[in-house]
Amino acid sequence: RMAFGQPRIEYKTNAQMRSMHEAGLVLSQALDAAVAAAAPGKTTKDLDAVFASVLKDAGATSNFLGYHGFPATICTSVNEEVVHGIPGDRVLQDGDILSIDGGAILDGWHSDSARTVIVGTADPEDQRLSDVTEAAMWHGIAALATGKFVGDIGNAVDDYVSSVPGKALGILEDYVGHGIGSEMHMAPDVPNYRTNHRGPKIRPGLCLAIEPMLVRGSIETAVLDDDWTVVTTDGKRSCQWEHSVAVHEKGIWVLSTPDGGAAKLAPLGVVPVPIP
Ligand code: MG
Ligand code: MG
Repeated sequence: RMAFGQPRIEYKTNAQMRSMHEAGLVLSQALDAAVAAAAPGKTTKDLDAVFASVLKDAGATSNFLGYHGFPATICTSVNEEVVHGIPGDRVLQDGDILSIDGGAILDGWHSDSARTVIVGTADPEDQRLSDVTEAAMWHGIAALATGKFVGDIGNAVDDYVSSVPGKALGILEDYVGHGIGSEMHMAPDVPNYRTNHRGPKIRPGLCLAIEPMLVRGSIETAVLDDDWTVVTTDGKRSCQWEHSVAVHEKGIWVLSTPDGGAAKLAPLGVVPVPIP
Protein backbone atom coordinates (compact mmCIF):
# COMPACT_ATOMS: atom_id res chain seq x y z
CA ARG A 1 0.00 0.00 0.00
CA MET A 2 1.32 3.46 -0.85
CA ALA A 3 1.75 5.66 2.19
CA PHE A 4 -0.35 8.52 0.80
CA GLY A 5 -3.19 6.12 0.09
CA GLN A 6 -3.48 4.84 3.67
CA PRO A 7 -7.24 4.77 4.37
CA ARG A 8 -8.64 6.23 7.56
CA ILE A 9 -8.95 4.07 10.63
CA GLU A 10 -12.47 3.25 11.84
CA TYR A 11 -12.59 3.99 15.58
CA LYS A 12 -15.42 2.20 17.33
CA THR A 13 -17.72 3.21 20.18
CA ASN A 14 -17.95 0.99 23.27
CA ALA A 15 -21.34 -0.31 22.10
CA GLN A 16 -19.85 -1.25 18.72
CA MET A 17 -16.93 -3.02 20.39
CA ARG A 18 -19.34 -4.95 22.62
CA SER A 19 -21.12 -6.08 19.45
CA MET A 20 -17.77 -7.15 18.03
CA HIS A 21 -17.21 -9.23 21.19
CA GLU A 22 -20.53 -11.01 20.53
CA ALA A 23 -19.28 -11.86 17.04
CA GLY A 24 -15.98 -12.96 18.57
CA LEU A 25 -17.71 -15.29 21.03
CA VAL A 26 -19.54 -17.08 18.21
CA LEU A 27 -16.25 -17.36 16.34
CA SER A 28 -14.50 -18.75 19.41
CA GLN A 29 -17.15 -21.48 19.74
CA ALA A 30 -16.93 -22.30 16.03
CA LEU A 31 -13.15 -22.61 16.26
CA ASP A 32 -13.48 -24.78 19.39
CA ALA A 33 -15.70 -27.14 17.38
CA ALA A 34 -13.42 -27.18 14.31
CA VAL A 35 -10.32 -27.81 16.44
CA ALA A 36 -12.10 -30.61 18.33
CA ALA A 37 -13.07 -32.21 15.00
CA ALA A 38 -9.51 -32.16 13.62
CA ALA A 39 -8.30 -35.78 13.68
CA PRO A 40 -6.52 -38.24 11.39
CA GLY A 41 -8.96 -39.44 8.71
CA LYS A 42 -11.09 -36.28 8.70
CA THR A 43 -11.04 -34.05 5.63
CA THR A 44 -10.51 -30.30 5.78
CA LYS A 45 -14.01 -30.02 4.25
CA ASP A 46 -15.40 -31.84 7.33
CA LEU A 47 -13.97 -29.11 9.57
CA ASP A 48 -15.46 -26.40 7.37
CA ALA A 49 -18.91 -28.02 7.77
CA VAL A 50 -18.53 -28.17 11.57
CA PHE A 51 -17.46 -24.52 11.72
CA ALA A 52 -20.25 -23.36 9.40
CA SER A 53 -22.93 -25.14 11.44
CA VAL A 54 -21.91 -23.31 14.64
CA LEU A 55 -22.16 -19.96 12.84
CA LYS A 56 -25.55 -20.87 11.42
CA ASP A 57 -26.93 -22.01 14.79
CA ALA A 58 -25.80 -18.70 16.34
CA GLY A 59 -27.41 -16.62 13.59
CA ALA A 60 -24.01 -15.41 12.40
CA THR A 61 -22.71 -15.32 8.85
CA SER A 62 -19.28 -15.97 7.39
CA ASN A 63 -16.98 -13.17 6.27
CA PHE A 64 -14.71 -15.70 4.52
CA LEU A 65 -17.37 -17.31 2.29
CA GLY A 66 -17.48 -15.37 -0.99
CA TYR A 67 -14.62 -13.03 0.04
CA HIS A 68 -13.05 -12.27 -3.37
CA GLY A 69 -14.67 -15.57 -4.37
CA PHE A 70 -13.30 -17.69 -1.48
CA PRO A 71 -15.41 -20.87 -1.44
CA ALA A 72 -15.49 -21.81 2.28
CA THR A 73 -16.04 -20.49 5.82
CA ILE A 74 -12.52 -21.27 7.07
CA CYS A 75 -9.02 -21.44 5.68
CA THR A 76 -7.31 -24.75 6.42
CA SER A 77 -3.56 -24.55 5.91
CA VAL A 78 -1.67 -27.83 6.35
CA ASN A 79 2.10 -28.27 6.90
CA GLU A 80 3.99 -26.12 4.34
CA GLU A 81 0.77 -24.22 3.59
CA VAL A 82 1.03 -20.89 5.39
CA VAL A 83 -2.41 -19.30 5.00
CA HIS A 84 -5.52 -19.27 2.78
CA GLY A 85 -5.70 -23.04 2.24
CA ILE A 86 -9.07 -24.08 0.81
CA PRO A 87 -11.01 -26.83 2.63
CA GLY A 88 -11.60 -29.85 0.42
CA ASP A 89 -11.08 -33.59 0.15
CA ARG A 90 -7.60 -33.57 1.68
CA VAL A 91 -7.52 -36.20 4.43
CA LEU A 92 -5.70 -35.15 7.59
CA GLN A 93 -2.79 -37.40 8.51
CA ASP A 94 -1.23 -38.18 11.88
CA GLY A 95 1.36 -35.47 12.60
CA ASP A 96 -0.05 -32.80 10.27
CA ILE A 97 0.22 -29.23 11.54
CA LEU A 98 -3.04 -27.50 10.68
CA SER A 99 -3.89 -23.82 10.96
CA ILE A 100 -7.61 -23.05 11.03
CA ASP A 101 -8.46 -19.41 10.29
CA GLY A 102 -12.08 -18.32 10.47
CA GLY A 103 -14.34 -15.35 10.95
CA ALA A 104 -17.91 -14.44 11.83
CA ILE A 105 -20.25 -11.51 11.26
CA LEU A 106 -22.97 -10.75 13.79
CA ASP A 107 -25.19 -7.65 13.50
CA GLY A 108 -22.79 -6.30 10.87
CA TRP A 109 -19.66 -6.57 13.06
CA HIS A 110 -16.73 -8.76 12.10
CA SER A 111 -14.36 -11.00 14.00
CA ASP A 112 -11.31 -12.91 12.76
CA SER A 113 -9.24 -15.52 14.62
CA ALA A 114 -6.93 -18.44 13.84
CA ARG A 115 -5.56 -21.37 15.80
CA THR A 116 -3.07 -24.09 15.03
CA VAL A 117 -3.66 -27.71 15.97
CA ILE A 118 -1.36 -30.66 15.54
CA VAL A 119 -3.31 -33.65 14.29
CA GLY A 120 -2.63 -36.82 16.29
CA THR A 121 1.01 -37.24 17.31
CA ALA A 122 3.03 -34.03 17.36
CA ASP A 123 6.60 -33.71 16.11
CA PRO A 124 8.20 -31.80 19.03
CA GLU A 125 9.59 -29.23 16.56
CA ASP A 126 6.08 -28.59 15.21
CA GLN A 127 4.74 -28.28 18.75
CA ARG A 128 7.49 -25.77 19.49
CA LEU A 129 6.60 -23.85 16.30
CA SER A 130 2.96 -23.62 17.37
CA ASP A 131 3.77 -22.76 21.00
CA VAL A 132 6.20 -19.99 20.01
CA THR A 133 3.77 -18.56 17.44
CA GLU A 134 0.94 -18.51 19.97
CA ALA A 135 3.18 -16.89 22.61
CA ALA A 136 4.37 -14.37 20.00
CA MET A 137 0.74 -13.44 19.34
CA TRP A 138 0.14 -12.90 23.08
CA HIS A 139 3.27 -10.74 23.32
CA GLY A 140 1.90 -8.67 20.42
CA ILE A 141 -1.48 -8.38 22.14
CA ALA A 142 0.23 -7.32 25.39
CA ALA A 143 2.05 -4.60 23.44
CA LEU A 144 -1.32 -3.25 22.32
CA ALA A 145 -2.13 -2.78 26.02
CA THR A 146 1.20 -1.23 27.02
CA GLY A 147 2.45 0.41 23.80
CA LYS A 148 1.87 3.80 22.20
CA PHE A 149 1.97 2.93 18.49
CA VAL A 150 0.82 0.04 16.31
CA GLY A 151 4.49 -0.56 15.44
CA ASP A 152 5.08 -1.59 19.06
CA ILE A 153 3.13 -4.80 18.31
CA GLY A 154 5.56 -5.96 15.62
CA ASN A 155 8.50 -4.96 17.79
CA ALA A 156 7.17 -7.09 20.67
CA VAL A 157 6.51 -10.10 18.41
CA ASP A 158 9.97 -9.80 16.83
CA ASP A 159 11.76 -9.32 20.17
CA TYR A 160 9.99 -12.32 21.69
CA VAL A 161 10.67 -14.65 18.74
CA SER A 162 14.35 -13.58 18.68
CA SER A 163 14.64 -14.25 22.42
CA VAL A 164 13.49 -17.88 22.21
CA PRO A 165 16.48 -20.20 22.76
CA GLY A 166 17.28 -22.90 20.19
CA LYS A 167 16.84 -23.01 16.44
CA ALA A 168 15.64 -19.68 15.04
CA LEU A 169 12.11 -19.43 13.62
CA GLY A 170 11.21 -17.04 10.79
CA ILE A 171 8.45 -14.43 10.94
CA LEU A 172 6.61 -14.00 7.64
CA GLU A 173 6.65 -10.50 6.20
CA ASP A 174 4.45 -11.06 3.11
CA TYR A 175 1.25 -11.12 5.22
CA VAL A 176 0.29 -8.84 8.10
CA GLY A 177 -2.50 -8.24 10.60
CA HIS A 178 -5.11 -5.55 10.07
CA GLY A 179 -7.79 -3.31 11.44
CA ILE A 180 -11.24 -4.91 11.80
CA GLY A 181 -14.79 -3.70 12.45
CA SER A 182 -17.55 -3.07 9.91
CA GLU A 183 -15.35 -4.99 7.47
CA MET A 184 -12.89 -7.83 8.03
CA HIS A 185 -9.83 -6.19 6.48
CA MET A 186 -9.43 -2.49 7.27
CA ALA A 187 -6.69 0.02 8.01
CA PRO A 188 -4.16 -0.06 9.52
CA ASP A 189 -1.73 -2.81 8.53
CA VAL A 190 -0.27 -4.56 11.57
CA PRO A 191 3.18 -5.98 10.79
CA ASN A 192 4.35 -8.90 12.93
CA TYR A 193 7.99 -7.86 12.70
CA ARG A 194 10.15 -4.86 13.50
CA THR A 195 9.87 -2.10 10.88
CA ASN A 196 11.21 1.44 10.73
CA HIS A 197 7.66 2.77 10.98
CA ARG A 198 6.01 3.39 14.33
CA GLY A 199 2.59 3.31 12.67
CA PRO A 200 -0.63 4.95 13.92
CA LYS A 201 -1.13 5.85 17.58
CA ILE A 202 -2.91 3.30 19.75
CA ARG A 203 -6.07 4.91 21.07
CA PRO A 204 -9.58 3.92 22.27
CA GLY A 205 -11.80 2.56 19.52
CA LEU A 206 -8.93 0.88 17.65
CA CYS A 207 -9.68 -2.78 16.88
CA LEU A 208 -6.97 -4.97 15.37
CA ALA A 209 -6.48 -8.54 14.22
CA ILE A 210 -3.03 -9.58 15.44
CA GLU A 211 -1.84 -12.65 13.55
CA PRO A 212 1.81 -13.70 13.51
CA MET A 213 2.79 -16.41 11.02
CA LEU A 214 6.01 -18.27 11.80
CA VAL A 215 8.00 -20.80 9.79
CA ARG A 216 10.68 -23.40 10.55
CA GLY A 217 12.66 -22.38 7.44
CA SER A 218 12.85 -19.49 4.96
CA ILE A 219 10.19 -16.77 5.04
CA GLU A 220 9.87 -16.82 1.23
CA THR A 221 6.35 -17.75 0.09
CA ALA A 222 4.48 -18.48 -3.15
CA VAL A 223 0.81 -18.79 -4.11
CA LEU A 224 -0.39 -22.10 -5.62
CA ASP A 225 -2.32 -22.39 -8.90
CA ASP A 226 -5.62 -22.29 -7.00
CA ASP A 227 -4.84 -18.55 -6.54
CA TRP A 228 -5.34 -18.84 -2.77
CA THR A 229 -3.09 -21.28 -0.97
CA VAL A 230 0.14 -19.66 0.23
CA VAL A 231 3.05 -22.07 0.76
CA THR A 232 6.64 -21.78 1.92
CA THR A 233 8.89 -22.15 -1.12
CA ASP A 234 11.30 -24.43 0.80
CA GLY A 235 8.44 -26.72 1.89
CA LYS A 236 9.20 -26.22 5.58
CA ARG A 237 6.31 -26.14 8.02
CA SER A 238 4.38 -23.05 8.98
CA CYS A 239 1.94 -21.91 11.64
CA GLN A 240 -0.49 -19.08 12.43
CA TRP A 241 -2.32 -17.80 15.49
CA GLU A 242 -4.69 -14.83 15.47
CA HIS A 243 -7.07 -12.90 17.71
CA SER A 244 -9.18 -9.78 17.22
CA VAL A 245 -8.54 -7.24 19.99
CA ALA A 246 -10.23 -3.98 21.04
CA VAL A 247 -8.69 -0.92 22.71
CA HIS A 248 -11.06 1.10 24.91
CA GLU A 249 -10.53 3.87 27.43
CA LYS A 250 -10.01 1.43 30.34
CA GLY A 251 -7.72 -1.05 28.61
CA ILE A 252 -7.84 -3.85 26.04
CA TRP A 253 -10.20 -6.78 25.55
CA VAL A 254 -9.50 -9.77 23.32
CA LEU A 255 -12.74 -10.01 21.34
CA SER A 256 -12.37 -13.58 20.05
CA THR A 257 -12.12 -15.17 23.52
CA PRO A 258 -14.66 -15.67 26.33
CA ASP A 259 -12.31 -14.22 29.00
CA GLY A 260 -10.92 -11.27 27.04
CA GLY A 261 -7.53 -12.97 27.07
CA ALA A 262 -7.16 -12.82 30.88
CA ALA A 263 -5.62 -16.28 31.35
CA LYS A 264 -2.99 -15.94 28.61
CA LEU A 265 -2.14 -12.30 29.36
CA ALA A 266 -1.68 -12.77 33.13
CA PRO A 267 1.90 -14.13 32.79
CA LEU A 268 2.73 -11.02 30.72
CA GLY A 269 1.45 -8.69 33.44
CA VAL A 270 -1.55 -7.47 31.46
CA VAL A 271 -5.08 -7.55 32.88
CA PRO A 272 -7.73 -7.13 30.17
CA VAL A 273 -10.73 -4.98 31.11
CA PRO A 274 -14.30 -5.69 29.90
CA ILE A 275 -15.56 -3.06 27.46
CA PRO A 276 -17.60 -0.50 29.49
MG1 MG B 1 -7.80 -14.66 9.99
MG1 MG C 1 -6.86 -11.63 9.83
